[in-house]
Amino acid sequence: MNRCIWCLQTDQKPSREHIVPEVLGCPSDWILSNGEVCELCNNRLGFLDRVLADEFDLLRLHVGQVGKRGKPPKITGRPNLRGERRPYGPDILVNMGRKIANHPHYGVIRPPTGNPRDAQADFLVDGSIARIRIRVQVGATMEFSRAIHKIAFAWLARAQGPEVAWRKTFSPVRDFVLRGTGTRYVLGKPARQSEYHRSGTVYSRGDGCSCVEFNICGSSFMVDLSPEQQVLPDLVSEMSRTHGRDGWGILPPPKPSHDLYKVFASEE
Ligand SMILES: [Zn+2]
Repeated sequence: MNRCIWCLQTDQKPSREHIVPEVLGCPSDWILSNGEVCELCNNRLGFLDRVLADEFDLLRLHVGQVGKRGKPPKITGRPNLRGERRPYGPDILVNMGRKIANHPHYGVIRPPTGNPRDAQADFLVDGSIARIRIRVQVGATMEFSRAIHKIAFAWLARAQGPEVAWRKTFSPVRDFVLRGTGTRYVLGKPARQSEYHRSGTVYSRGDGCSCVEFNICGSSFMVDLSPEQQVLPDLVSEMSRTHGRDGWGILPPPKPSHDLYKVFASEE
């Protein structure tokens, strides 16, 4: 029986769902193609793939990750930054001035305007060494968390079968990804360099709570798929104990008044 893991409808038109968005370079066998995801849900959740493509745009450019139909990476979705892959490597322009810049090849590049999508660039000189640093914010929005949950849930369906993914215990995950209902967080940290993408590993506890860990674009994510994310405080305190406060994060960052932040801040 075909039953979609998202809308739970049966006998909908099936689709080929890439577990990792194609634009990020999904390996050819990381696909749900046995009717786990209906065509309608595949299409309506496509915008979350776009969210990830935009968030990881600099990384895609850096590694030269081609998108759908072999399109080379190109950054157009940031107000003050433009980037393209050239024969010599990545070409990145950042406007850190106060006026609009008009570039012969890239066209209009705006100054930073306080938009979260702005890039920050600085030039550091240390003796005879000069270093250029470009920084962008990643994972600051709830949509980012929805997109990461979508991948985690697809890995769960792949690892444990769609029958497990149909369970009612995952209704909050479905509502969050499909409709943006509720607030859910993920944990992220840089992955080891050799593991740009890594397939999902599911950790299930005796009480039915499941967490999924995977890498995309050189970042490692841990997602608690339990209804109220009741495992998350334990994961946060474990990360704090092993890594301290640096080099990983709760995404999107919770407010200091949030219980998760308190767990994060209490471990030192
Ligand atoms: Zn569906």
